Amino acid sequence: MSDSKRLFETATRLIPGGVNSPVRAFRGVGGEPFFVARGEGARIWDVDGRSYLDFLGSWGPLILGHAPTAVVEAISEAARRGTSYGAPTPLEVEMAEAITAAYPSIELVRLVSSGTEAAMSAIRVARGATGRPLLVKFDGCYHGHADSLLVKAGSGGATFSIPDSGGVPAPLAALTLSAPFNDLDALRALFRARGDEIAAVIVEPVAGNMGVVAPLPGFLEGLREITRAHGALLIFDEVITGFRVAYGGAQALYGVRPDLTCLGKIIGGGLPVGAYGGARQLMSQVAPLGPVYQAGTLSGNPLAVAAGLATLRELGRHDVYATLEARGAMLERGLTEGARKAGVALTVNRVGSMLTAFFCDGPVTDYTSAKRADTARYARYFHGMRERGVFLAPSQFEAAFVSLAHTEADLEHAARAAADALASLSR
Ligand SMILES: *Cc1c(COP(=O)(O)O)cnc(C)c1O
Repeated sequence: MSDSKRLFETATRLIPGGVNSPVRAFRGVGGEPFFVARGEGARIWDVDGRSYLDFLGSWGPLILGHAPTAVVEAISEAARRGTSYGAPTPLEVEMAEAITAAYPSIELVRLVSSGTEAAMSAIRVARGATGRPLLVKFDGCYHGHADSLLVKAGSGGATFSIPDSGGVPAPLAALTLSAPFNDLDALRALFRARGDEIAAVIVEPVAGNMGVVAPLPGFLEGLREITRAHGALLIFDEVITGFRVAYGGAQALYGVRPDLTCLGKIIGGGLPVGAYGGARQLMSQVAPLGPVYQAGTLSGNPLAVAAGLATLRELGRHDVYATLEARGAMLERGLTEGARKAGVALTVNRVGSMLTAFFCDGPVTDYTSAKRADTARYARYFHGMRERGVFLAPSQFEAAFVSLAHTEADLEHAARAAADALASLSR
């Protein structure tokens, strides 16, 4: 029996589903997860000594790849000075300076320990500032697992807000309305019906959690206009896109300025961090300046901030995002070519170094069109790639992340593996 199999057997007796976050359990593709021993650059090794070219990138944070020297050194150095004090440290100031310099919409920023915390705290600020109870999100967008965010209301959302999760009381779910992504008319309808109760619209400006879906031209601008007209706030959840699609995130790439921004993933350099921020006046709602309470024992943790800052320093170098764009485009071309030769219907959505290959004809512009993807086919493709030494997200509705550690040779290898795996699908 392999070491991974043995570990998974023990894990399933002790941990729900054997995993500490559900999608790691491979339920979306079948089979059992392998256990990771280590990672270096673009590769990971499992406990049985097999190596994989990794496009999961820990679900987004690892834009430099695994164990980059600068980050490992920054963490080691910080650890030698102590791991947490519950009192301010100099690097937190440096992180706040780095974030506010890169995101002009953020004047004050608060560090937290996860993207979930960032989103729920930003929403609390929006509700505190507007005195309104309702939140609008978009179908297929994920903003962490806080109670009232686990909702993807059915059509007509205003009256049927049904929680996606057990344990979420219906009255909490009822505070969240949901509209189709890229559909401004649906959003206008929600605002016409209940506009004076809506505190904020929260959106992944480039969706990553239904697979990658870019905003259609005018969508983000429309959100800005509609929220402003109704006195509601606009929250960009840039937990994935922040420092990923551009150093200044999707708000820099598309030139739309939100009221509040959530960050996470990359700014922790692979350690647990989140952040939320916005205009000084708005963020002055947050305790101890204002009445909106939010706190954290490990917030601004010295190791996590050191790892994040080391990552941002590398990303601040010349041409980094041009390189990521070029590598992302290479992977996209490889997949598209492979699918064409194999005669497999595949729609590749990509923004810079984040990409999803949907197993369906395009376009994929929202959750409904994403759901047309053939998940059984994706599962076979996933396992085919895994057998060929390439590790992808174990679900169709996730992104593949290209890092700066992926060389052109790595991407050629991935494209060849994909061509083979896709060809075997049509046989
Ligand atoms: C990952 C993610 C979150 C949640 O972050 P965690 O650190 O997992 O709590 C929130 N929003 C988006 C867009 C994400 O991708």
